[in-house]
Amino acid sequence: MSAETMMVRPAFTCGRCGGPVRDEAVPGFEAYVEGLRVTLEGGVSRFTCRDTACAAAGHVVADEQHLAARLAQARLTHPLKLDGPEGRFVRRVLDLTQAALAARLEITKVHLSSWERRQVAFSPALEMRFRLAAAAALQAVHPGFTFDWPALARLKPRVAEGERPVFRFVWVLGGWRLTPSSAAESAAA
Ligand SMILES: [Zn+2]
Repeated sequence: MSAETMMVRPAFTCGRCGGPVRDEAVPGFEAYVEGLRVTLEGGVSRFTCRDTACAAAGHVVADEQHLAARLAQARLTHPLKLDGPEGRFVRRVLDLTQAALAARLEITKVHLSSWERRQVAFSPALEMRFRLAAAAALQAVHPGFTFDWPALARLKPRVAEGERPVFRFVWVLGGWRLTPSSAAESAAA
């Protein structure tokens, strides 16, 4: 491979017709990931098939697995009370079965599954066990992720009807980072 071809970005091909696509960066992309609202700066491109008869189009988000892991980290440290579907999202990011996570939390699988379906609520003490266990599991998979453990252990989750956190991430040096404005917003929310 010549230096010249190495300069060229990896070409996307159309998933529908296999032809070449045009892609452009999308600034301030807003999306819902498993019900969690995110704004992404950088790392998102919109592609359009160059074949006008095909006209396939869509978005490509860089390293979605890393984004999901960062989102799980952000949610675990956010002060709004966790609801079950958010917990299920975190569990899936950790690649844990309900049985495995329930064992770590010392609850039954039925209890965990009922929470994930919003049929029961977690007590504040159990929610804290969940946050700490999930954060530890996340850090085991991503040693570069840091947590303020004393702050997390002191966190008093708030119940706020209808209020949802918004997380802003920026794509920097091949990874997703939660932006400081997002943290301030979380604290003020
Ligand atoms: Zn196409």
